[in-house]
Amino acid sequence: MKRSPSDLKLEQMLRSSKLVAGGFMGTDSRTVEEVIREDAAELERLGKTAAQVASRMRELTLIARPALGNWVEAENKYRIRSEEWKGSLICPWPHVGRYEKRITTCIRLETNEKIDWSDLNIHLIEAHGFFEGRGAYFRLEPADLVRILF
Ligand SMILES: [Zn+2]
Repeated sequence: MKRSPSDLKLEQMLRSSKLVAGGFMGTDSRTVEEVIREDAAELERLGKTAAQVASRMRELTLIARPALGNWVEAENKYRIRSEEWKGSLICPWPHVGRYEKRITTCIRLETNEKIDWSDLNIHLIEAHGFFEGRGAYFRLEPADLVRILF
């Protein structure tokens, strides 16, 4: 597939370490489009959409937020904590939007599995179907999200 200059620029930005330590692509050698396409196929196999996953992440984030960094129990099933850090994260796609540097950690009590995400992850999944490249600090595996959050 021919890649447009704006795709290449996006990819450079996604690989940059200026935005997040390790960038958004980590050590992944696939293109951004391949990452998005393969994760979309994986989600489809799992019977969920990116919108459903993002909305679940947002729902749990909103439960934890009022506790201001303390752990809360949710749905008799999770322990969740949402911590705010100084600064903001910027979506690498060219549109307006800054996301608070809020990291939410969710532990599923019955399995003790843990997963963390930032507010920007929610946006990247919802608006761009992007779970980040392998090796990126905030890479999220669709299978982990579906198994832990549903
Ligand atoms: Zn965006």
